[in-house]
Amino acid sequence: MGLIVQKFGGTSVANAERIRTAAKRIVETYKTGNQVIVVVSARGQTTDELIDLAYEITDKPSTREMDMLMSTGEQISIALVAMAIHALGYPAVSFTGGQVGIVTDSYHTKARIRNINTQRIKKELDNGTIVIVAGFQGIDAKENITTLGRGGSDTTAVALAAIMKADRCDIFTDVDGIYTADPRRVPYARKLNTISYDEILELASLGAQVMHSRSIEFAKKYNVPLYVRSSFNDKKGTLICKEAKEMEDIVVSGVAVSKDDAKITIRAVPDVPGQAAKIFHEIARKNINVDMIIQNASIEGRADVTFTVPRSDLKEALNVAEKIKNDLGAKEVIYDSKIAKLSVVGIGMRSHSGVAEKMFRVLADEKINIQMISTSEIKISCVIDEAHADRALRSVHTAFGLDKVEKAEVVKV
Ligand code: ADP
Ligand code: ASP
Ligand code: MG
Repeated sequence: MGLIVQKFGGTSVANAERIRTAAKRIVETYKTGNQVIVVVSARGQTTDELIDLAYEITDKPSTREMDMLMSTGEQISIALVAMAIHALGYPAVSFTGGQVGIVTDSYHTKARIRNINTQRIKKELDNGTIVIVAGFQGIDAKENITTLGRGGSDTTAVALAAIMKADRCDIFTDVDGIYTADPRRVPYARKLNTISYDEILELASLGAQVMHSRSIEFAKKYNVPLYVRSSFNDKKGTLICKEAKEMEDIVVSGVAVSKDDAKITIRAVPDVPGQAAKIFHEIARKNINVDMIIQNASIEGRADVTFTVPRSDLKEALNVAEKIKNDLGAKEVIYDSKIAKLSVVGIGMRSHSGVAEKMFRVLADEKINIQMISTSEIKISCVIDEAHADRALRSVHTAFGLDKVEKAEVVKV
């Protein structure tokens, strides 16, 4: 007998028919002699709608109350899924995150799981019951409801799979697996059979919202194999696993674009030691994550310092930058929120050269200006004008040979 965790995303439980389809899948797995833990997201657009409701009331909702509100979406789904399983004649019980002891820190709307008390789940599984858990939520030490950040149900599923030492964790979603790029943006993207934890982690944090990045960190740490597949068909999905030697032969596995950042420049900062430390100390004090940083060559003893921050933190970062400008005697603060970060990712980059050059060449041929560049061992990211994001994404996808074969044939004709 095995233990399998199955996670169903929002589209997979969007209406009664889909909930019934999900229930059938769950029961099939159970009938083959497995214990099953199911993690469910809020139906369809429920979470977005709940957020809109909050902003109809106030433009500064308390994050504690946001969590109270948003967590209700998943609670609806778990009850309905349990009922659908009952209707098929099988035992199931639904639980909120708090009820199954998912304890998090207290950072409302972006909480992290600290520990999970598995007693209640184990008891139900041992009784032969299918356990349905609300994704995306937990409680803090004072029993306040918390949520794990948008897309966080993946993390609930993987964390449960890790702590319960599940044999497998299936992520059922609205695409057939992980693709070389978001198939909504690049229709001729290709489905991957396997991808390493490191690659999907980079892709997920660089704009491929197919998996919550924290879920991959968990999966990698506890070595949980994840299988991403469609809830609408039985096609073979994508296995996310430890890297194998042959994976390095593929230089670029995927490309992603994110429009979540903004760029700030503090102009004409006196070029003396300690200025960068001062700037980024002040930004960090506000808990704002800086991603890329560049400093221009100094002219007449002054240099421009440019950095990117999450767009959602732009207003606050600008306030800090203005203050720093005055403290340091810099000239002015300018910003651009219409930027996009285009990234190529692949563990093969460790052993192959020329990837950066190829990416820069493609952008040059497309007459797209590169504003900033950053690299890691397995990724290269370029900041470009947001208006060119999708064109750049498609060109880079094609240039690295990632297009589906059918597309290549169409092009030849
Ligand atoms: P769920 O509600 O099941 O969690 P999500 O909407 O969070 O589903 O994630 C699935 C979506 O992720 C897909 O519909 C797809 O548009 C998007 N996506 C982005 N990048 C990729 C990628 N590289 N491969 C597959 N899907 C991707
Ligand atoms: N319902 C939450 C969201 O929309 C969590 C999830 O779907 O994973 O972000
Ligand atoms: Mg998701």
